Amino acid sequence: MQQAKNIYLDHAATTPLCQEAFEKMSPYFCDCFGNADSPHGVGRKAMLAVDNARDKIAEILHANPKEIYFTSGGTEADNWALVGGALAQKGKRVIVSAVEHHAVLSAADKLRDMGVKVDVLPVNNGGRVEISALESMMDADVGLVCVMMANNETGVLQPTKEIATLCKKYGALCFADGVQAAPYLDIDVKELGVDMLSLSAHKFYGPKGIGALYIKSGVKIEKFVSGGEQERGMRGGTVNVPAVVGFATALELTAKERAERQAHLSALRTAFLEGLADLDGVTKNGEEGLPAVLNLRFDGVDNDSLLYAMDLKGVAMAAGSACASASVKPSHVLTAMGLSEQEAKNSVRISFGKDNTEEDVRTAARVLKEEVEKQRGL
Ligand code: PLP
Repeated sequence: MQQAKNIYLDHAATTPLCQEAFEKMSPYFCDCFGNADSPHGVGRKAMLAVDNARDKIAEILHANPKEIYFTSGGTEADNWALVGGALAQKGKRVIVSAVEHHAVLSAADKLRDMGVKVDVLPVNNGGRVEISALESMMDADVGLVCVMMANNETGVLQPTKEIATLCKKYGALCFADGVQAAPYLDIDVKELGVDMLSLSAHKFYGPKGIGALYIKSGVKIEKFVSGGEQERGMRGGTVNVPAVVGFATALELTAKERAERQAHLSALRTAFLEGLADLDGVTKNGEEGLPAVLNLRFDGVDNDSLLYAMDLKGVAMAAGSACASASVKPSHVLTAMGLSEQEAKNSVRISFGKDNTEEDVRTAARVLKEEVEKQRGL
């Protein structure tokens, strides 16, 4: 059997830095190295770059620049929103969906350790939160609700606007993890009505280790990272200027090319599924969502041996969240959707990117089909 060239189908885990971001970042490593909070010219030059980046990001999200706070990534933004939001709500009850990323679920555990009551909102078999289920859990004692916009393992989209409306009705804060949605959806925070939204640049061809939390003006949350007075006194730590510049550049390009990228991703998905069409015992997990993410279950095949074999053949795919991939536990997202542990272990995530070609995905589908048949002993 022919070995595939290296084909990367794990864009939900991370994406390569785009050339445009790399070039815009370069001067800020050595030439314009200033500390953005230094009051001299060298510092002011760095701060100018940070301000410009903040303005660009805010404009794309339809936010005010003063509502954007840079963080070290999606995980920190999620931790901050959850812990900072709950503390500001003086220990009121918190609701998180069952399919959140570990960045949220671990912060929820921390809140429980701190004595805050955290309830888990279930999802239906398609992976979606039911508004009626959320409403049945709401009362005046709920301080914060957290439901992600798009799921990182299945690509399933949540009804963020309806959730935000419900939160408003009960006086609770609404936080949406927008990390997986931002690469693909045109996010308008005002239209959605959320109080907080997290982002991470490396999911849309920006650098790793940089993210942001949108906090709607007037919303009070506790500081999470203590230190200096950076980020208007809300997040201590020297600002990572090159990363901030790369973040804004990558997001700007993503917004500009969104329609074209979406069409390309849909074509890739169709081509990939066509390549598997005559393979029996394949089920798609989750309802239709982002075109970039496919979660497929192959009866009779364990994902760890399948992923290992695919990797040897040059095709990178995943079992779920990259942060959880070292663990042997079945995916909490899939089991929350009603799959058995075995079914979850039969499932893999394939996530396409802008630089994949139709030829790449047809090759990957052919290799995958051959490998599934081999592992089934056919
Ligand atoms: N939230 C979601 C939905 C994610 O998919 C991820 C990363 O996989 C994160 C949060 C964490 O982001 P980061 O890798 O920037 O810490």
